[in-house]
Amino acid sequence: MIEIALPAKVAAKLRRELRRAGDREIGGVLAGEDLGGGIFRVVDLSVQRSGGGVAHFVRDPGAHRRFMRRFLARTGSDYTRFNYLGEWHSHPSFPALPSGTDVRQMQGLIEERGQPANFLVLLVVKLGRGGEIEATAHAFRRSAPVVQARVAREEGAAVQAPPKTPLERLSWKWMAWHREAAK
Ligand SMILES: [Zn+2]
Repeated sequence: MIEIALPAKVAAKLRRELRRAGDREIGGVLAGEDLGGGIFRVVDLSVQRSGGGVAHFVRDPGAHRRFMRRFLARTGSDYTRFNYLGEWHSHPSFPALPSGTDVRQMQGLIEERGQPANFLVLLVVKLGRGGEIEATAHAFRRSAPVVQARVAREEGAAVQAPPKTPLERLSWKWMAWHREAAK
């Protein structure tokens, strides 16, 4: 079981950016800290405000690479503790669940030749009606089914997830992806 811990500072940054973006999708990369025991803290995240529409988000890898380089330098290049954790983006108009495209993209990233990570996290977020953050996180591994991770505020309480757990649907999507990739 993997747990993604969101410190109050990062949650506040997310809320601010989501409010500002309105109905446009935004996203970026997650800079993480391995706390041990399967718990990963999101220390910071990059925010790409352009490149997204109402129902899509196109990453600009250059900007996120620069963000990660700075993060790694700042944390003393202690890669086993501080490293790239994965990706995040918002679904202002849809539930905070990965879409089929999201699953394919993330599985593609982890399967890339030369990808040093053992797994990559995708955090999908949206602003709930009361202004709180709704989020789900999933971990993608090489040639293995996707697993759902718990998302928690670092103060302890779980972050609200959308009403339905999408895991069955996701597994099905993953199987479809894997069949396609194996051809
Ligand atoms: Zn998405």
